[in-house]
Amino acid sequence: MNQRYEPLDPAVARRLVDRAGLADVFDKVESGVRLSPEDGLRLYETPHLAAVGHLAHRVRLRRHGHKAYFNNNIHINYTNVCQYSCKFCAFAAKEGEPRAYTMYGADIERKLREYDDLAPTEVHMVAGIHPREGYDYYLEVVRAAKRARPDIHVKAFTMVEIDHMLKISGKTEDDVFADLREAGLGSCPGGGAEVLVDRVHKATFRDKIGPQQWLDTARKVQRHGFKMNATMLYGHIERPHERVQHLVQLRELQDECGGFMAYIPLAFWPFHTGLERHGHVTTGWMDMREIAVGRLMLDNFPNIKAYWIMLTPESAQTALSFGANDIDGTVTEEKITHDAGTTSPERMNRDDLIRLIREAGYQPVQRTTTYEEIEVVDAPLAPSH
Ligand code: SF4
Repeated sequence: MNQRYEPLDPAVARRLVDRAGLADVFDKVESGVRLSPEDGLRLYETPHLAAVGHLAHRVRLRRHGHKAYFNNNIHINYTNVCQYSCKFCAFAAKEGEPRAYTMYGADIERKLREYDDLAPTEVHMVAGIHPREGYDYYLEVVRAAKRARPDIHVKAFTMVEIDHMLKISGKTEDDVFADLREAGLGSCPGGGAEVLVDRVHKATFRDKIGPQQWLDTARKVQRHGFKMNATMLYGHIERPHERVQHLVQLRELQDECGGFMAYIPLAFWPFHTGLERHGHVTTGWMDMREIAVGRLMLDNFPNIKAYWIMLTPESAQTALSFGANDIDGTVTEEKITHDAGTTSPERMNRDDLIRLIREAGYQPVQRTTTYEEIEVVDAPLAPSH
């Protein structure tokens, strides 16, 4: 690790937050008192980003010290055919379009075997909702991954896909989750929540599940013993008080079920989407605040992830000092954000991830999907140039 990134001297920190009018929030953070929705709104609205970041950094250090997690993972977006038309999505295609594709069991097995060099511990699989593929298709997606790599952790299906399976299976909820477990599902990623607010749902993704259904489905997933993550897609039409509402609902569900592993704010990329004309690429200012407010409001979430695909590697690295303790993984072949114009690469080498973490003053730790530590990386890297 390079020189450690340490928090400010307490007296200096106090002056910083006093100047930002956040002394009472500082006191709450120091004494572990939960922040209110009004506090959350103030964190979004203050121009003193450094003060917000400092508060989040203190919480991050208290929970994780200087550790920063990454994993060796592969992404497979197994079909882009989707019956829905979310306005922020550039990935989905309709059947018959030249860019439409669907992967089946053999394709998934082949794809997983391509990455032997990476020694992946996780495959992350999400996709469109294909109008003609049935319940067994989803089970086969999971089984194929396990056939190719029996030891791999399959993190698959957003709440949109889980809800779809529950509806089309003709089976009970208990049977569906038993089938998924038997097929080899390990956990669920956190996508599909977008912004858990009715106004945003109606305006941008009205034909797929809305806030209450997302929360209800997440509750089912967790009650059936699966861990999962939670996301928020920010930087389009949502307003600060709606982001607070989103975070408070996640926090309440975590109080109830306790199955969220990480919160992952997702920066919106507008290109080729139905929101392109509203669109600006999110700024570093906005990205750092989103990470920091997430860390401060979600006091019951163990991990905050800076997802480099959407943030860019440079911003994800900086986010480690704004409350994030995880930078995601090697990824490979991500399509959803790339179709919307992200400038990030499709894949990151393990050494590059480690270099990003070390340069920012943190200790790289390779983790499993469920945050068990695999390796504290102390070995020197090959020179980068
Ligand atoms: S975001 Fe998901 S559900 Fe919505 S159109 Fe895109 S692939 Fe389909």
